[in-house]
Order: sequence, then structure tokens, then C-alpha cells
Amino acid sequence: MEILSVNAGSSSLKFTLIELPFEKVVVSGTFEKIGIDGSFYTIKYNGEKIKKEVELKNHTDAVKILMNELIDMKILDSYDDLDGVGHRVLHGGDTYFDSIIITPEVEDKIEELFPLGPLHNPANLAGIRSFKEILPNTPQVAVFDTAFHQTMDAEEYLYAVPMEWYEKFSVRKYGFHGTSHKYIAQKMREILGEDKKIISCHLGNGASLCAIKDGKCVDTSMGFTPLAGFIMGTRSGDIDPSIIPYVMEKTNKTAAEIVTDLNKKSGMLALSGVSSDMRDIEEAYLNKDPRSVRAMNMYIKHIANYLSMYNTLLEGAEYIVFTAGVGENSDIVRKLLIDKFKFMGVKLDEEKNSTRGITGEISTEDSTIKVVVLPTNEELMIAKDTYDLINKE
Ligand code: ADP
Repeated sequence: MEILSVNAGSSSLKFTLIELPFEKVVVSGTFEKIGIDGSFYTIKYNGEKIKKEVELKNHTDAVKILMNELIDMKILDSYDDLDGVGHRVLHGGDTYFDSIIITPEVEDKIEELFPLGPLHNPANLAGIRSFKEILPNTPQVAVFDTAFHQTMDAEEYLYAVPMEWYEKFSVRKYGFHGTSHKYIAQKMREILGEDKKIISCHLGNGASLCAIKDGKCVDTSMGFTPLAGFIMGTRSGDIDPSIIPYVMEKTNKTAAEIVTDLNKKSGMLALSGVSSDMRDIEEAYLNKDPRSVRAMNMYIKHIANYLSMYNTLLEGAEYIVFTAGVGENSDIVRKLLIDKFKFMGVKLDEEKNSTRGITGEISTEDSTIKVVVLPTNEELMIAKDTYDLINKE
């Protein structure tokens, strides 16, 4: 079956066509600057990348061009050849525990959740509606970033705030990166043949940890929004909320402007003064730039705090899994972090850890918790969920 995995942003649309059940990526690409001057798209196929500049007034223009390109390139014979479309949707609120076939009711619900995901849900829905317009008979599936975390207990997801904030305004922890953490949970089960107690560490520009037991999320570090948790590339992670009104008064900024500062101008970018990109920070760290050394030490300590918390919550984790840009590639971050747990017998095999592009176990035989590097694949997870739901119908 040919399944298209789609991630629609406000001015972009990323796609990957995957053949299932073989998990073969056929073609992928991105439409950029949709609705803005200078729009263009790129397509990667057979090891080649093409780029074309074209006017894209809206997402529907992008979908039309995409489908026609797939036919011109003889990847599909006709529109009907596409068996399903899986859409990444940021927020499923507390309604969606799993991916779901999109019906008009599901579209309404995604719209109802705009206040909880104001930057993403409207764009995700625009993508869904464009595909429905061009491919009215093709099944479409919504895959929510929050869904995997819906198994959290109220003891994990409630904040200690007036209960009516939760009851009337849905203020609670939702968690994000769920599709990635779910991929890690499923892949680990596939590799090990059973569910183990896992701490999944998705360390990218945005980053979160997830404690997983019996294949399900027990707790995760992001919260009501992706701003919560530990220090990220440009996000602050957890801070004392009283800082917000205090800085508003000092700077005459609005609450929304301060929240933007906390999302975009904080984290490793603010601490290092160098960059939000871990490659630049690593270089400055190795050159002993004092701010970058302090930033890196803080980053590691904050993640280690969450790792310790989840190790306790799971009553002894069996696996720590590193994934996403930093987790998959930064042997320095992995070493600094795991060294914090040497006192309890968690040990890295330094040679394996420093092998470029390694996947698999990087801990020693006698390590008390196994440490693994496993590349995430959110596009594949979206396509697999779509494939499974279509075949269940
Ligand atoms: P996102 O999807 O959140 O944008 P990614 O998972 O793509 O993030 O991760 C981006 C991060 O991964 C960046 O901070 C980047 O510096 C880091 N990264 C990528 N490659 C390497 C590498 N070889 N060494 C260290 N960090 C890396």
C-alpha cells in the first residue's frame, strides 16, 4: 500500500510516501513559503533532489502539485493509487488516545482544540482539508502528538492549581513528541520481544523525556505546552511562573511576548550566547568557552534530574534510549549524561558510544541500565498507524 505521511505547518507541507508493510520510503519532500512570496518545493527521489519555484497560494495548491508530480514521475498511475494519507496533528486534547480515521466530527474536534494548539492545529487542519478536497475518496488519518501520553494517570497530569482551571479550561499536562516516543516503545518491543521499563530521551531542538512501562507512557516532561520540562535549544523548560509578570512589568512586554521569548530566545541559545545548535555548542564547549561549558553542564544536569525522577517512577528503568538530532548524534551529550549515573552502575562502552552513526546498545555488558541509540522515525509511525487503521476498516 502507498501511504503518504504529511506534516502541514502554517506555511509549509512536508511529505513522505511510504510503501507498507515494507516500510520503504519511495519519495519525500517539502513545500515551503506557502502563501508567501518566493514559494518553492523540493522533492527527493532515487537519490536526487529537485527544487522548483512556483506560486503556492495555499495548501491546496501544494497538494495538487504534489499529486501531479507523483503521477508525472510515474510513482502513481492516478490519484486513486494513493491508499491513504496520515496527518501529523499536534493536539488531540484529552479526547484522542490513539490515531483515528478523519471524519467531519474529528475535523470539528481538531478545530475545537485550536486554543490548546494555536500555532499548529489550524495548519494541520488546513492540510487535512486540502487533501480531502483533492482526494475525497482516500482515507485520511490523524496522528496526534499528544495521544501516546493519554495513558498518564491524573497524579502525573494534574497541576496543583485551582481545580476549576482543569475542569473549566482543560489546564493539565498533555505532553508532546508522542509519535516519536510511541515509535521508540514499539521498536524496542520489536527488538526485545517484550516490553521493558524504558526512559525514552527525545533530544532534538525541542526535547522531552518519556517514562514507558508495558509499552505505555507513564509520565513525560513536556506539559500543557511544549515549553515545559528541561532546557532545550531555544526553550527555557520549567521556570518559576512568577518570573513572567515580573519581566512583563520591567520590559512593558505582553504575556504573549514573554512566552515567545521563553520559547524562542531562551534555553541553550540564551545560556551559551553562541547558538541553539548543539554542534556549535559542542565546539565551543570543547574549546572551553566558559558560557558554553556552563550551558552544557546545566543542560546535562536538568536532563539528569528528569532521568532520576523517571527511574524512581518506574522503580528501576531497564533501558535508556537516546533519539532525535542530539540523542542520535552527540556522543558528548550521551557521555556527560550517562556519567552522572556511574555511581549506580550505569556504564557506557566508550568505543561504541563514539562510533559515528551508531545505533543499538552503547552500554557495557555489566551496566545496571542498558543504554541504546535508536533513530526515531515519526513519518514511518504516522504511515504505520494509517496503514493499520485502513486495514481495520
Ligand atoms: P527538531 O526536529 O526538534 O528540529 P532534530 O531532532 O532535527 O530537531 O535535532 C536538531 C538538533 O540536533 C540540533 O540542535 C542539532 O545541532 C543536533 N545535531 C544534529 N547533528 C548533530 C551532531 N552530529 N552532533 C551534535 N548535535 C547534532
